Amino acid sequence: MKLETLAVHAGYHVDTSTGAIIAPVNLSMTFQRAVDGSYPGGYIYSRLNNPNREALERCAAALEGGAAAAAFSSGSAAAMSVFQALSPTDHVIAPKDAFYGTADLLRDLFARWGLETTFLDMTDPANVRQAIQSKTKLVWVETPSNPLLKITDIAAVAEIAHEAGALCVCDNTWATPVLQNPFQFGADLIVHASAKYLGGHCDAAGGLVIARHDDCFFSKVRKVQTVGGAVGAALDCWLVRRGIRTLPYRMRGHSDNALRIARFLCQHDEVEAVYYPGLAGHPGHKIAARQMRQFGGMISFQIKGGMKEAFEVVAKTRVFTRASSLGGTESLIEHRASLESGGTRTPENLIRLSVGLENVDDLVEDLAQALTD
Ligand SMILES: *Cc1c(COP(=O)(O)O)cnc(C)c1O
Repeated sequence: MKLETLAVHAGYHVDTSTGAIIAPVNLSMTFQRAVDGSYPGGYIYSRLNNPNREALERCAAALEGGAAAAAFSSGSAAAMSVFQALSPTDHVIAPKDAFYGTADLLRDLFARWGLETTFLDMTDPANVRQAIQSKTKLVWVETPSNPLLKITDIAAVAEIAHEAGALCVCDNTWATPVLQNPFQFGADLIVHASAKYLGGHCDAAGGLVIARHDDCFFSKVRKVQTVGGAVGAALDCWLVRRGIRTLPYRMRGHSDNALRIARFLCQHDEVEAVYYPGLAGHPGHKIAARQMRQFGGMISFQIKGGMKEAFEVVAKTRVFTRASSLGGTESLIEHRASLESGGTRTPENLIRLSVGLENVDDLVEDLAQALTD
C-alpha cells in the first residue's frame, strides 16, 4: 500500500466489541488473566505493552518500511534507548550539527557511562571514514540537521558504517517518512521525535525507534523500553497515531510554504544567509534532491546584526508565535542560541522558523513587516 493509505489504515482496526471505527484510548494499566493464568487479549501490563502503543508502533514501522518499532515517552528517550543498547567503551560517531539534546546526551550522560563519541562534520563522508575505530559500533545521522539544515548523504555514511561493522541510525524527525526513507539508503534504525511532525499538532509527547530488522540489537532497544519504562503513554500514542492520518498532506503544505518563504528571505536586504535545502544554492541541495521528495518545513536564517537585532525581529512577528519546537500547524519563530545554553555552536544572529500550514501570503507579509525597521 502507498504512504497515504498506510497513514490512514496501518495499525488501525474496527473495535469488534463496539463497532467503533476509531480506536478507544486504553487507559487501563493492567489486563485480566484467564482462569488458567494466560492473557487472552495478549496484554499484561501497560508498561510492557498497550493497544494504543502497539497501534502506533505498527503504523510507524509500516510507514518507514521497517520490521518493528518501539514507542517512547519522548524523542530523547528514544535516542537514549539506542545508546543504552550499546555497551560502555563502545565508540559512536555523531554529527557536530545535531539536535542539541542528542549531543548533550552523548557529551554528558553517556560519556559518564563510558561511551565515547567523536563529533564531526558529516556533510563530508570522508570525515566519518577517518574517524572509524575498531570499537566504533554506531554512526548517528541527522539530516536535515538542527538547526543549520545540513544535509548528510545517508547512503554514503551507511556504507562506511557497515564496512566497519557499525550500525547507521538516522534521526528522521525533520524529514518524516513522507519526504525521506532512510532504510532505502541503508540505515539500520530510524529515530523520531514524534511530538513534531508525526503528531503534528504540538499536543502530544513521544519518540520512536524503528528497526529495519527485528534483530538482536532491536531486542535490546525493546528491553530498554519495557524494563527501563520510558514508554509512550496511551493518550500520547493515540494522539500521535491520529496526527499521522494527515501527515502526507501536511508535509506537502509545510514544504510548499517553506520553499516560498526561503525564496523570500533569500532576496531580503536584512538577511545575511538562509539555510534551506530546497534552495539551489544550498551546499547540500543535490544530495537532498536525491534522498528527499520535498525539503520540509524548517528554515534557519541569519540576519544582518547580532543577538539584539535577531531578538528585535522575533519580537515583531504577529502570525509566527515565539516558541521552541516544530512540526505543528502553527508557524513558530525562535532565537535558537539563547535556548541552547552552554556549549552551543549556533550563531547569535540565527533565527529558526517552523513553517506552519497558514496561508503563505500571511506568513511572508508577517516576516516582511518584522524585518522592516
Ligand atoms: C525535538 C527533537 C528531538 C528530541 O525530542 P523530544 O521529544 O523533545 O525529547 C530529537 N531530534 C530532533 C531532530 C528533534 O527535533
